[in-house]
Amino acid sequence: MLVVMKAQATAEEVQAVCEHIEQLGFRAHALPGAQRTAIGITGNQGEVDRGNLEELPGVAEVIRVSKPYKLASREVKQEDTIVRFAGTDATIGGRNLAVVAGPCSIESREQAFAIAEQVAASGAQFFRGGAYKPRTSPYAFQGLGLEALHIMAEIRDRFGLRIITEAMDNETLDLVAEWADVIQIGARNMQNFSLLKHAGRLRKPVLLKRGMSATLDEFLMAAEYILSEGNYEVILCERGVRTFADHCRNTLDLSIVPAVQKLSHLPILVDPSHGTGKRDKVLPMARAAIAAGADGILVEVHNQPEKALSDGPQSLYPDQFARMMDEIEQIAPVVGRTLPRGIRIETAAAGAHDGFGK
Ligand code: PEP
Ligand code: MN
Repeated sequence: MLVVMKAQATAEEVQAVCEHIEQLGFRAHALPGAQRTAIGITGNQGEVDRGNLEELPGVAEVIRVSKPYKLASREVKQEDTIVRFAGTDATIGGRNLAVVAGPCSIESREQAFAIAEQVAASGAQFFRGGAYKPRTSPYAFQGLGLEALHIMAEIRDRFGLRIITEAMDNETLDLVAEWADVIQIGARNMQNFSLLKHAGRLRKPVLLKRGMSATLDEFLMAAEYILSEGNYEVILCERGVRTFADHCRNTLDLSIVPAVQKLSHLPILVDPSHGTGKRDKVLPMARAAIAAGADGILVEVHNQPEKALSDGPQSLYPDQFARMMDEIEQIAPVVGRTLPRGIRIETAAAGAHDGFGK
């Protein structure tokens, strides 16, 4: 159920409706929009008695949400969600494209800094790197853990890049949330409902990757788990699904981009690295993703991919990443987008200064 407030409803009226909903034993989610505030109701099993609600001051109408995902749906929130990063001009969602670049895993301080310097020079605003790695083999490199989180925090200080890294389990979730700007939940954990609920209780953006065989509904329902706990900053990421096709590691399902955008207000990035598994396929699919309307790209970049401890074959060389940025910058205006080059950091004293962009 959704309570639509009148455009002129006051903050007190919104508050009173939320309290009324909570008194009924449900959860109220106030979602301010450009025109009016909507209040999503979750926790109800059947229909909520709308009689009383419609009488409350400031209420325009009470409507039933037809989709199984409520807070993720455009029925509840029409405007696109834009995730903002305090003190910077970086956003995910909205007109500006977001580019997240970096190695699959943080392997050493030297490796991470070398790559960060190059992706920052090409104008990325976000740096990625695995600290806790979900690996098929227990004998493969599992990540540097806390040491990697510290390295990435240093990278944020040095280059201004905002940090995205994966939390693999509830044990390390709080630690990741403490050090990162965005918590990644990986494909293998897309339906780890306990992890999703815990991430929903944090107040940090979550990048949710599509499960390897997840349908669109399952993907949005996983996002709903996070939203239903009150964390409304969810970013979706298409990273390829398992099919019979074996020319690539996965089949990058770009048609999910317009499909998500029709049903949901949440931003969606595309990961052409895991989506193809092959370096020479990454640039064409990055171009295609932007042309399809994605809100940005998540891509693996390595300075020595032949020596990488994970996902070397799909990692771009830094000069290939620079080319990717130049090309998607040109495609962006065709689809009404802009690619910001570099991040602007507001310093308390000096207003703002440019990051390492061109
Ligand atoms: C990753 O981003 O490094 C990763 C492990 O991705 P996925 O969960 O999509 O496999
Ligand atoms: Mn990887």
